Amino acid sequence: MREDRLFEILGTTTDTRMNPTGTWRYFRPVIADRQPPCAAVCPAGNNIREFVQLAAEKDFHAALAAVKKENPLPSTCGRVCHHPCTANCSRNGVDSPLAVNLIERKLGDMVQKHSACLPAPRAATGKTVAVVGSGPAGLAWAYHAALLGHTVTIFESESAPGGMLRWGIPAYRLPRKKLDGDLHFIDTLGIELRTNHPIQDLKELDGYDAVCLALGAHASRRLDIPNQDMPQVWGGLSFLRAVNSGDAPDTGKRVIVIGGGNTAMDCARAAMRLGAKATVCYRRTRGDMPALPDEIAEAEAEGVAFEFQVMPSGIDGKAPFVTVEFTRTRMGEPGPDGRCRPEAIPGSKFELDADTVITALGEMPETGWLPAEFIAKAGALSADPITCLVNTTARSGLFAAGDASAWGGRTVSHAIGAGKRAAIAMDIFLNGEMESAQDILARITVGDTGVLSSRMYRDGLPQAPVAVVAALDINKAHVLKTAPVAIKHLDAAERMTGFDEVNMGWSEDDAAAEAGRCMRCGSCTSCGTCLLFCPDISVIQGADGRPDFDSEYCKGCGICLRECPRGGIVLVEEEK
Ligand SMILES: Cc1cc2nc3c(=O)[nH]c(=O)nc-3n(C[C@H](O)[C@H](O)[C@H](O)COP(=O)(O)OP(=O)(O)OC[C@H]3O[C@@H](n4cnc5c(N)ncnc54)[C@H](O)[C@@H]3O)c2cc1C
Ligand code: SF4
Ligand code: SF4
Repeated sequence: MREDRLFEILGTTTDTRMNPTGTWRYFRPVIADRQPPCAAVCPAGNNIREFVQLAAEKDFHAALAAVKKENPLPSTCGRVCHHPCTANCSRNGVDSPLAVNLIERKLGDMVQKHSACLPAPRAATGKTVAVVGSGPAGLAWAYHAALLGHTVTIFESESAPGGMLRWGIPAYRLPRKKLDGDLHFIDTLGIELRTNHPIQDLKELDGYDAVCLALGAHASRRLDIPNQDMPQVWGGLSFLRAVNSGDAPDTGKRVIVIGGGNTAMDCARAAMRLGAKATVCYRRTRGDMPALPDEIAEAEAEGVAFEFQVMPSGIDGKAPFVTVEFTRTRMGEPGPDGRCRPEAIPGSKFELDADTVITALGEMPETGWLPAEFIAKAGALSADPITCLVNTTARSGLFAAGDASAWGGRTVSHAIGAGKRAAIAMDIFLNGEMESAQDILARITVGDTGVLSSRMYRDGLPQAPVAVVAALDINKAHVLKTAPVAIKHLDAAERMTGFDEVNMGWSEDDAAAEAGRCMRCGSCTSCGTCLLFCPDISVIQGADGRPDFDSEYCKGCGICLRECPRGGIVLVEEEK
């Protein structure tokens, strides 16, 4: 009997359409755009998949326009952002992650002067707004505020805009020509820039409809040891400021840098370029250093020496050089921040001689001129983390962003994301919609770090695809391994001859080739993998040209989404 049935089926002249397996279904596959893992963690809110795809197609102008919808500073970010996009790229489990930062850098460099790449601003609102500070947070605020149709003025105490991008980060990481190229938008969007104009009293800003404080963190923390005010002892920011203004001090041959953050790395690397031998002394271990891993590696490649687990206990300055007394440390119990506290090892004192000592122990905002009610911890402004509104009754419409604010990461791309958030919240405030601010901001939140999309706010687009593609959603077995495009660096010896850029970047072809490695995670590209693997042959072409699923035959087995190489399909429960 069994054999008879088998014969019947094998012998049939009909096809599998006689077996409508769709009736078995509890779940239904649908094509769904989701946020790729790279963009989900970009603090500036870049639409990475879009600009990378356009770069792969060599439509560089459109690619830059896509970046500029969210981020005014691509040349800068492509150079100094800590690029979490790369760490989170799905190619990590295949071969090596995409250098999204270098693609962004190339786009910024290639066409940054083309004002046509900027989004069209909204019609003028007649509102005048001001930002204090022209670091990345203030610049992003000014950019997005201008795109929203407001008349913007930037007040900056220094002689040129950029904040730490100009006076902190040295030119071998961010050439000033490239920074200036990014700042082209100031003129194009008609933003008024008042340099050499420190604001010392909020009353000076009384006439503005809204104000943002983007003051940064410029006060160097001090060592708690005697003799630190000697002329041979420099604060890290003062030293870098002098170097970056073309007025570098004579450091002598031996420089000790005390600290383990980005400022310490830049001080040591700059001192090496001035002809000194720099030694970085840090009280914790190498793994505890807050500096970016790339910076530590570059410093090591350039010959900077390191002394870990040492802390200074005194400075003796009998000219012409100084002697710093150090004590070796071991890691003690965790402190309130969860990090183990270094504690002195008795009897472990030793001395190092130096011609110059540079202290780089971290920076705090200079907010002493503001009313005490504005200030949260360590001089930072007590702004609301969602709306950036400063917690004060002294003035309405006062926002804060960047390093001066009590929340958010202290990096360039975080400052850009915070400036954007504060600008959008300011627009909501000027529209009298502050009560719905949380809902409006939630609708334009992209990714899982809470960053906003300015494009979605301006264009009034529907909610962003906040769901993020997980690593398990991507079937990496179908992804062809491709070698990453090589990154060229100046030879270590050549670097010491000046402040030329170390990372030599890419040609257009290089950038397009690297962009071509992108798997376009979270977006169906009609590659046909689902069609190949569907056991019910129920993948059909949908109205938009992308795959659709024939409900008569799809039994909801989910094989299509298990096979999808980019996580472009999800299963939804069938309504019965
Ligand atoms: C040496 C160094 C290296 C760094 N390297 C990196 C890096 O590689 N990658 C990274 O992501 N981050 C890096 N950072 C951190 C990064 O630079 C900051 O997080 C970022 O610049 C903060 O931006 P901001 O706009 O809040 O402040 P800032 O960039 O500090 O800008 C604040 C601006 O406000 C102005 N200002 C302040 N008070 C007033 C006032 N009362 N009136 C008028 N103007 C005023 C200041 O002059 C300044 O121009 C580095 C920082 C330092 C110090
Ligand atoms: S801003 Fe930073 S995280 Fe965002 S795309 Fe650029 S390099 Fe990546
Ligand atoms: S492969 Fe492309 S879309 Fe996927 S995480 Fe990497 S850069 Fe983003």
